[in-house]
Amino acid sequence: MFQKEIEESLQLLEKKWQVDPVLKDFMLAKRTDVSDHPIKVGDVIFHVPFLNDEKKFILWKCFWPDCHNCCERQGRLPLTSDDLITIGRGLKYQKASDFIKNETLVASWIESSPSGGQIVMTSVNLKRKQDETEADDGTHVRCRFLDDAGACKLHPARPGVCYLYPFSTWLENDRGMARVHSTFQFTGDCPGFYLSESLDPMKEILKEYAVTIYDYNMKYTRTQREGFGCSSFV
Ligand code: SF4
Ligand code: SF4
Repeated sequence: MFQKEIEESLQLLEKKWQVDPVLKDFMLAKRTDVSDHPIKVGDVIFHVPFLNDEKKFILWKCFWPDCHNCCERQGRLPLTSDDLITIGRGLKYQKASDFIKNETLVASWIESSPSGGQIVMTSVNLKRKQDETEADDGTHVRCRFLDDAGACKLHPARPGVCYLYPFSTWLENDRGMARVHSTFQFTGDCPGFYLSESLDPMKEILKEYAVTIYDYNMKYTRTQREGFGCSSFV
């Protein structure tokens, strides 16, 4: 994500929420004292940012139902092969092929890889608005499944990727063993980040997300094997 986009997102966020100036500088890449604090929870290695000068971790909690900004400013909803079946059924489609034709789009985009390279990602994405086109991919859209009370109309059968936010995740091949990693996405859209001297306030949340994130990675890998998505280094 480009810095200018993050800046714009933060400006919008600040209209409703107080953003700690230290965190704001961090998100705008103005801090030079950031180190990575890896912590293994269950089957996932979480990379938690630590600000050396402040001697504090950056942690997160969700403010839903007071906040639903991630659904108001949705960027893309890539689907796993499991999502294609469960969401299709939830939307009363008899055939997955009809669901895919009417409700999804195929999109490709470039992401930075954790090793510093670039990866071209291709996936089948749920349309976030009925008339969504490929040109809308990656733009901020209020998701059509967000109801007036701030709840998701698809819940609990919402896309697996919606259960991950604000984490991002990737798989590493460690001498033939698949290792699941995760870190926060700092898009400037989430008011839930805060500074803490200890990791304790997030331990239970990390345990819960470790299960979700591991499961998502297995489903995502199967999705690629089944030909509903691919990724390649450029
Ligand atoms: S934007 Fe952050 S705080 Fe708000 S609902 Fe999403 S995850 Fe929770
Ligand atoms: S599908 Fe549901 S959870 Fe996901 S972005 Fe849309 S409203 Fe939010």
